[in-house]
Amino acid sequence: MANKLLSFVPGPVEIRKEILDATAQMEMLTRLGGSHRSPEFTAFFKEVLERLRTFLNTKHRVYVSTSSATGLMEAAIRNGAQKRVVNFACGAFSKRWHDITKLCGAEADLVEVEWGQATTPELVEKHLSSGRYDAMTVVHNETSTGVMNPLEDIAAVAKKYPDVVVLVDCVSSLSAVRVDMDGLGLDMTLAGVQKAFALPPGIAVCTVSERLFEKSKNIPNRGYYFNFEELEKYAQRNAQTPTTPTMSLISGLHEQLGRMLNEGAEARERRHRAMAARVQDWARKRFGLFANEKYLSPTITNVRNTRKEKISTDDFRKALRERGLLIANGYGKLKGECFRVGHMGDLTLEEVDTLLRTADEILGA
Ligand code: PLP
Repeated sequence: MANKLLSFVPGPVEIRKEILDATAQMEMLTRLGGSHRSPEFTAFFKEVLERLRTFLNTKHRVYVSTSSATGLMEAAIRNGAQKRVVNFACGAFSKRWHDITKLCGAEADLVEVEWGQATTPELVEKHLSSGRYDAMTVVHNETSTGVMNPLEDIAAVAKKYPDVVVLVDCVSSLSAVRVDMDGLGLDMTLAGVQKAFALPPGIAVCTVSERLFEKSKNIPNRGYYFNFEELEKYAQRNAQTPTTPTMSLISGLHEQLGRMLNEGAEARERRHRAMAARVQDWARKRFGLFANEKYLSPTITNVRNTRKEKISTDDFRKALRERGLLIANGYGKLKGECFRVGHMGDLTLEEVDTLLRTADEILGA
């Protein structure tokens, strides 16, 4: 068994040593005056928020939440759902947003497409034109299937319905590909940092439009933890958070945003698309792709194991692991049928090549 593992699991992803060093809590506490209310920490956190807004190229409000991304999916509903929500789903995570919506007590309808297919602008038009909804949820990149939805086209349709707030799960796309939340009129985009941001799990980030922020003020029973007004009140109080944040991860985010700004959003997207193209080409030759070719994800490739009789997904993953390389099983009902290769965060084309070369050795290809 190799003693050093390189991870191509689509989250939590491979983390670089510099980032782990930056999250080292003791250093953080010493450097920042020991408390999240200290002037040292708030100045540091202010810089994090500025870097985040700059990297995402947005004028919307940005928040960092001490929760995983699911917390912010709940925040979206608590702050944005008043009349009735339409949850568009194309896989496990987008479908879970429907469960979250109902568990938050909101009226909601689920509009689902088959796994491997995308939520289309036509489908969105069909439902928004009913006039029944004041909020919609959609996933940008469905991690369970390897589909990237056509967000620009979906947003163009949604713009025709100004009473509907557009809530977008960008968990496995944000920072890997550019999302023009301001231009597209996306009222909320959210992501956990254990995906393309390549940090350890534990915090999540989001952007919130003025329109959603104003709307939220009139929605009762938003609770406290994910209440935008509370988050904003503290953000205005010299960049603070209502509750104790995960300071070590915020230190990691500070470091990572610095690195991301150095690389540049465009170059980062190019690197992700190059890695995706390499994995997709390989998957087409050796196996098959699960997702509709029109909507292949730039961060995750879901490979259909068409060689199951010769090598099971478990044996293939095990053989890679013995050689120091991690990939993920198929998600949920696709376990065994598929395996997933994450190509996001700080991974490089050279590392992807190592994975594919090793996979070929195992397959004897
Ligand atoms: N949405 C998508 C697309 C995801 O991939 C995930 C996690 O993998 C989630 C939501 C949930 O994120 P978290 O586990 O950070 O709450």
